Amino acid sequence: MADSAEATQEQRIEGIAVSPGIARGRVRLSVDTLVAPLSWYVGSKAVEREKLRFREALGRTREQIRNMQEELEEGGSSREHASIFDAHLLVLEDAAVIDEVIRLLETEHRNVDRVYYEVIQHYITSLRRIPDPYLRERAIDIEDVARRVLRNLIPVPIADETEEEVRDHDQLILVAHDLVPSDTVTIDRERVKGFATEVGSATSHAAILARSLNVPAVVGLHGLRKVVENGDDLLLDGYSGLAIVRPSVATLAEYDQFKARESEILKGLETLRDEETRTADGRRIILSANIEFTHEIPQIQKQGAEGVGLYRTEFFYLNEEDLRSERRQARNYAQAARAVNPHGVIIRTLDIGGDKIWPELFDEPEPNPFLGLRGIRVSLESPKLFKTQLRAVLRASAEGKVRLMYPFVSSLEELRRANELLEEARQELREKDVPFDEEMEVGVMIEIPSAVLLADELAREVDFFSIGTNDLIQYTIAVDRVNERVAGLYQPYHPAIIRFLKTVVEAAHRNGIWVGVCGEAAADLLFTPIFVGLEIDELSVGAVQLLRVRRAVSRLDTEECKAFMEDLLKVSTTAEVEAKCISVAEAKYPELASAAVKGGKGTEAEA
Ligand code: PEP
Ligand code: MG
Repeated sequence: MADSAEATQEQRIEGIAVSPGIARGRVRLSVDTLVAPLSWYVGSKAVEREKLRFREALGRTREQIRNMQEELEEGGSSREHASIFDAHLLVLEDAAVIDEVIRLLETEHRNVDRVYYEVIQHYITSLRRIPDPYLRERAIDIEDVARRVLRNLIPVPIADETEEEVRDHDQLILVAHDLVPSDTVTIDRERVKGFATEVGSATSHAAILARSLNVPAVVGLHGLRKVVENGDDLLLDGYSGLAIVRPSVATLAEYDQFKARESEILKGLETLRDEETRTADGRRIILSANIEFTHEIPQIQKQGAEGVGLYRTEFFYLNEEDLRSERRQARNYAQAARAVNPHGVIIRTLDIGGDKIWPELFDEPEPNPFLGLRGIRVSLESPKLFKTQLRAVLRASAEGKVRLMYPFVSSLEELRRANELLEEARQELREKDVPFDEEMEVGVMIEIPSAVLLADELAREVDFFSIGTNDLIQYTIAVDRVNERVAGLYQPYHPAIIRFLKTVVEAAHRNGIWVGVCGEAAADLLFTPIFVGLEIDELSVGAVQLLRVRRAVSRLDTEECKAFMEDLLKVSTTAEVEAKCISVAEAKYPELASAAVKGGKGTEAEA
């Protein structure tokens, strides 16, 4: 450990790891606020000049966005990643914004930069009021585009005070309150080795791009900008979601070792890319990936996914209306199904509600959104909407391996009603001679305790289960998964969870259906011995964890893990469960276990 002077200097802040890897560099604070331009009066004649300035700035911005897209594609990123900027072009060309700016210019006679700023601020403020991560992300896109337009309207270079302190350093970590996609693309990639932000989520576009560019990134580092200055030494741990400001000599030595091990491990994992996932004794487990957008597909293919075990489809509903059409959805689902082999894609029907608020349905805030109108409840309340999605999934089933899955099922009645509507959707397609797979498998997510206890009954009426541990943990322990104040109580290794997992898997197998896990626990290497011991059939994880899970499974023996499970079921505290899991992971895949342990809990003991 460091001596006391060093220990007081070093400061650790925990956040959310969104792009793995370790990076060290000098802090480069990003100037990332949308600054209000001054307002002044323009005479009637000057209004036309202001309109022209606006059009020119829009044109220049369009060109810059297209250039960024090309640069990204030329740099080896997929077309799909570059297409994030398609959304920016849509924002830029949004007729409602342009018309409003023109109207205000004509009625208020003020300078166009100020008018544009106010119109955009109005949009951003209303989007930010909606407690929905997807819509908040759209606010970031709008802000990104607006900054660019304003820079083109006021072509005075903003003095960059940062450059002085960091000029002589070639390893930088970009620190920002939030990052916008163009920051992640236009940064000096030679020098910027990592991204650290105070807010953000794993599904933010900036996080997606950081993963695509393979740059370590940590978000949710609250208060980071208060404790760093330009040029400070910063170590970023994209595995455990840690920012270590002014790391001590001991910490640096520890991370040097970790990095050396990491590159060895990554090299070793590459060889598993085209292999099947099998336990040491040869038992097959399907290893699939979770996606939210089809543009993630190239990445999961690159990491050797055998299928998509969870396609979250909320995106269609939280974005533009025309994405929701039956044909648009069908085309998108078919594209996903064709791309991932051999297991195809499991499409989960709309799981809106909880923290994913869709303003069109939720005009009044609910007192307890996670216990409110969510998942299958929304679909059953809106059969027209639900059947559009069901027909889209059915249409896609004619073109590739597609399975359908219902989220948030809490009773047999809900499942039966959903299946009735599915039958109606099938009938409607038959009447129009639209082809679909009559044998398409239908499953339910097991993520509510009542579904666990009804697992036998549910299993008799579906083709598969997928356990949603993210919600199962929240509803079993009664701890809100998005409430930071109770984050410490959100305990995946709680003995009740282990027992529930056993109940579900046994019920599935007793009734002759297969069962997978698509919650975050599927990617947690401390859980892998549990899943092998339960003889799980499928695991579906984030792209970056695929090969690690494949390796961990390959080192485990089914019989040994079954005995381990027996042992685990006798344990009655979270700490004991966790300690036992750590000891298996450290014995069987020590090179991966250190990252797993780090990833799970940070390194409080050392802090
Ligand atoms: C889950 O609950 O574990 C799950 C995979 O679904 P979501 O995280 O989308 O609720
Ligand atoms: Mg869930």
